[in-house]
Amino acid sequence: MGKNLSDNVAVLRGVGPKKAAALNKLGINTIEDLLTYYPFRYDDLAVKQLSEISEQEKVTLKGTIASEPTIIRFGPKKNRLNFRLMVENQVIMVTFFNQPYLKSKVELGKDIALYGRYNAQRQSFTGMKIIPAGQQNDFTGVYRASKDLKVNQIKSLVKLAYTDYHEQLKDIIPLSLRNKYRLESREQMIHDMHFPQSKKQADLARRSAIFEEFFRFQAGIQLLKKEDKQNQGIAIKYDNQQLKQFISSLPFELTNAQKRVVNEICRDLREPIRMNRLLQGDVGSGKTIVAAITMYAAVTAGFQAALMAPTEILAQQHAEKLNKLFAPLGINVGLMTSSSVSKITQRRELLSHLKQGDIQIVVGTHALIQDDVEFNKLGLVITDEQHRFGVNQRKQLRNKGLNPDVLAMTATPIPRTLAITSYGEMDVSLIDELPAGRKAIETNWLKNSQLNDALKFMRQQLDDGAQAYVVSPLIEESEMMDLQNAQEVYEKLQSYLGEKYHVGLLHGKLKPEEKEDVMQQFKDHKIDVLVSTTVVEVGVDVPNASIMMILDADRFGLAQLHQLRGRVGRGERQSYCFLIADPSSDYGKERMKTMVQTTDGFVIAQRDLELRGPGDVLGTAQAGLPQFKVGDPVKDLKILQIAQMEAATIINDPEFRNKAENQGLLQYLNRKVDWNTNLD
Ligand code: ADP
Ligand code: MG
Repeated sequence: MGKNLSDNVAVLRGVGPKKAAALNKLGINTIEDLLTYYPFRYDDLAVKQLSEISEQEKVTLKGTIASEPTIIRFGPKKNRLNFRLMVENQVIMVTFFNQPYLKSKVELGKDIALYGRYNAQRQSFTGMKIIPAGQQNDFTGVYRASKDLKVNQIKSLVKLAYTDYHEQLKDIIPLSLRNKYRLESREQMIHDMHFPQSKKQADLARRSAIFEEFFRFQAGIQLLKKEDKQNQGIAIKYDNQQLKQFISSLPFELTNAQKRVVNEICRDLREPIRMNRLLQGDVGSGKTIVAAITMYAAVTAGFQAALMAPTEILAQQHAEKLNKLFAPLGINVGLMTSSSVSKITQRRELLSHLKQGDIQIVVGTHALIQDDVEFNKLGLVITDEQHRFGVNQRKQLRNKGLNPDVLAMTATPIPRTLAITSYGEMDVSLIDELPAGRKAIETNWLKNSQLNDALKFMRQQLDDGAQAYVVSPLIEESEMMDLQNAQEVYEKLQSYLGEKYHVGLLHGKLKPEEKEDVMQQFKDHKIDVLVSTTVVEVGVDVPNASIMMILDADRFGLAQLHQLRGRVGRGERQSYCFLIADPSSDYGKERMKTMVQTTDGFVIAQRDLELRGPGDVLGTAQAGLPQFKVGDPVKDLKILQIAQMEAATIINDPEFRNKAENQGLLQYLNRKVDWNTNLD
């Protein structure tokens, strides 16, 4: 049998079920996964002179052991090994924590090389390892290891895989590109990433590895996009006259940006291609009405349309709004969430209406993608807050129709530069304008000690008929703690505000119908102040609410703060956002300042990127950003853009599949049938 990079790691000598499972846990399933499991840093074990070492630097020291080693125990499984080391006529106290077995290797009078951290001031050294005499290589990679799989085990498995499979390492990047950008062959690159002789060699390999990582990802996306375009879609021949009439019957005039994106979408609808479009627009920019217009267009052409929302509250809210719009036109809007069709008979009835086609528009949560949901003639699928859905869920819904057109809406502003990494397979429409007459939200950052001022102000606003959100502190580790926190805030506020005002409480542990009930009361102004964990984050629209108070605001990400703030500023009232926080770090302070300075989601997203790097922006998973292993889409943006451009050129070349130099890339794309799973 021939060797193949997609072979399971279990084929390697010494890899039994246990080790295979440990590898799988690290995301390593195939030989190729293992070979591209690169060190995340390199240690330079070359011996340094004491004078060359900077404070707290990790280094290798060489010296003579100057005292008998002693072990001091200070707790179960806690101990330290101490001895003196003579280095360049100085005595240094060496400590190894919790490695008592090293004692046998420490012999008075012998020479030894140690790797660890040197504290020049105290002339002490915290040892990490003893470097065996005759170690071949001073420069060595360190891997992310696990409890069941140590760095050295990973290293020897990589070595084994490389020895057995290096001949299979065909180049993914075509030769002409490698020449153009002076990139290494894949075989050499992978070798040098794992076993470099020097920092320079590692850096060179890394440059090639970053390019390759971005290139193969972009090639995958571009191929998907190309195939998508070739797929026969449906032409939705909507009634232009009716559509125009509908738009002019709305209580407001569309903004120019809304008009532009409606045109972009309608152009796609008419053509027999499969629309795959992302609608990006900041909170409050008016995406919902664009969705409604689009769905109406589909209905006039005799198709059904589905709108999928990430939460019950949002689905319910959408259904209500759409019902108001469409009921007078004789269009039926259905709602499908676990609570709206909790009874079997209700559910059966809704399903049959969908199948027969006498519900033209359906709004729902995940409940929409269950297997037994069938449509009569589904032509359009819209997802709201699309970053909440994985690629697979979107695909599932799409598969319910005859290649329906897909519109994905998101309010998460993704800087343009990053959009190419996450939504590269989609066309993008952008609403870059807010409806006229919106009053800017006034944002204030206050210390905890000033909370009372904010509360006083809030009470005055309540006296004036306003409503408020109070978001309780986020405790990342524990939903339970979140709840306790919210409960506490709720009780305090209630006693602070007294009888006159109703305080409501919304949290993740409530049943869907309980949540809906609380939200409905807030909408009806039966609740004045809504205390909530972050469940109000997305989409909720209560125009009379004009105060957003966020406690311990520095615990939230910038994108999340922006989303939360977007819940106010939706109506006639001047709106206010209070960030209550005592951030200790400069970084935390910068974030609060950013929120005070701007309400532009794109500016905030860009600042977020600069402040903390893309790994964390918006919470990677939430934003649907892919995780790269070597490349950093911000630091390595130049490479990303070049890789994107070159990948598009190659994939769209009509001769793409025939060219000899592209065969390695083609084989890679075939191996990676699941390449897009990490988009989720
Ligand atoms: P988002 O983009 O955050 O989903 P929505 O669709 O909820 O925003 O719209 C926010 C509010 O603005 C809604 O109350 C909506 O009715 C209103 N709105 C939308 N478009 C316009 C417009 N062109 N002029 C005035 N108000 C608008
Ligand atoms: Mg919305």
